[in-house]
Amino acid sequence: MRIVIKLGTSTLTAGTPHISPPRLIDLARQVKTLTEEGHEVLLVTSGAMAAGSEKLGFPQLPKEIPAKQMLSAIGQPRLMALYEELFGHYSLTVAQVLLTRTDLGSRRHYLNARNTLAAILNQNVIPIINENDTITTEEIRVGDNDNLSALVANLVDADWLIMLTDQPGLFTSDPRTSPNPELVREIDSEKIPEALWAAAGWNGTGLGTGGMVTKLQAADLARRGGTTCIIASGSEPDVLSRLVSGEKLGTHFLPIVSALESRKRYILSARKAPGILCIDDGASKALCQGGSLLPVGLTAVSGKFERGDTVQVKDSANNEIARGIVNYAGTDLEKLIRRRSDEIETILGYHFGDEIIHHNNLVIL
Ligand code: GLU
Repeated sequence: MRIVIKLGTSTLTAGTPHISPPRLIDLARQVKTLTEEGHEVLLVTSGAMAAGSEKLGFPQLPKEIPAKQMLSAIGQPRLMALYEELFGHYSLTVAQVLLTRTDLGSRRHYLNARNTLAAILNQNVIPIINENDTITTEEIRVGDNDNLSALVANLVDADWLIMLTDQPGLFTSDPRTSPNPELVREIDSEKIPEALWAAAGWNGTGLGTGGMVTKLQAADLARRGGTTCIIASGSEPDVLSRLVSGEKLGTHFLPIVSALESRKRYILSARKAPGILCIDDGASKALCQGGSLLPVGLTAVSGKFERGDTVQVKDSANNEIARGIVNYAGTDLEKLIRRRSDEIETILGYHFGDEIIHHNNLVIL
């Protein structure tokens, strides 16, 4: 399985004002077990601001964004140094990935982020992802790491998103104020019931302020991309291995569509497919059998499009047989007509992969 794990500040500090090395070591041990079982793990971490504040001796600062960005700038490298050192005890190599909303929204950036994360996972390295707080402005920031983790889960087609927090899961009413809150075990209905949004503190304006509301937003988003989402307590012993081995801890949100279905919807939802690729019969046959589109089968290119755009694929009889996300811009593809994949680098001077469209990014119509 491919698993995204979101670690909130409260989990990393274990409820103290400091990032807790014992907590990180415990998480490293659990992540190691998951990788040994053959799972791919990506972490979405908070705690940059907490680490920055700790370094400066917890100063009283204005609530403005520049002060927060300053704390992140100081804290992010400290946070990574801790991951590097403590995960290193379990021979886990980590990689820092800082994202903004732009990297997850625009299709060209999206493809780059996706390919980079895939390359990191291919090396059995653990991506440690955070928002690029230092430079993101109000307009382009995701703002909270719950929603960031859901966007990452969609980006990498994760099977699971586990959000670790300081609560055992989602309750039917606020456990801090209500006399008899009940833990919600599973949500399988297409819509998350209104009563649960209300219990999570939803105020109807769409302006969540963190806590359970952003976790519900994230769960809602991730399950629409085909990801199973779980909210569970970060202090539950061996929570990750127990979840993965099937124990029903916390609150589970079942996916609404399969990941494949969601990917197809994403490709087919492109407003318009500006480019057209014509391919020969051999390539048409390969695509229909689940293969990728290679330059050797390309016979003509028309339309203006960039790497990451969705294009139409037409067969020799001019029928649209597929749609997919291209790895190369139209101007590049004109130079690649009928060429072998091993010539790409020589012709273009760079290489985004042997395929013009990878079969994972292709929908046969
Ligand atoms: N990116 C922030 C940090 O690392 C955390 C945001 C959040 O926890 O939602 O400090």
